[in-house]
Amino acid sequence: MATRSFRPRRRRRPETAPGTAAAQLEALVAEAQAARAARAHGYRERSLALHGWICARCAREFEADNLHLLTVHHRDGNHEHNPPDGSNWENLCVYCHEAEHTMRTLGDYLTGRDR
Ligand SMILES: [Zn+2]
Ligand SMILES: [Zn+2]
Repeated sequence: MATRSFRPRRRRRPETAPGTAAAQLEALVAEAQAARAARAHGYRERSLALHGWICARCAREFEADNLHLLTVHHRDGNHEHNPPDGSNWENLCVYCHEAEHTMRTLGDYLTGRDR
C-alpha cells in the first residue's frame, strides 16, 4: 500500500511578487478602481469638454476666469450615474442650476412625487 505523499502546500505566501499572475491581476484591479474613481470625480471636466462652456438654459457663455460658475447638473439626480456619452449631464450656470432644483422640488411637491 503506497503511502500518500504530502500534497505540496499551495500559496504558502501570497503570490504578489512582480510578474506573477496574481500581481498582474492585482495591478489590473487597482487600475480599474483608479479609473472608476477618476471617472466619478472627473465628470465635470468631461461634461464641460462634451457640452461646451455654455449654460444649457440661459446660453450664457463662460471663460476660464468664471468657469467655476458653470456646474454640471445630473438629469436624473443621481450623481453616481455618469454615462461616458454625457447623456446624464447638463452644464448649467449656478443660477439656472439652483432654479432647476428649486423647480424640481416645487414640482415634486405640487404633484406629490416627493412622498
Ligand atoms: Zn444659466
Ligand atoms: Zn443638479
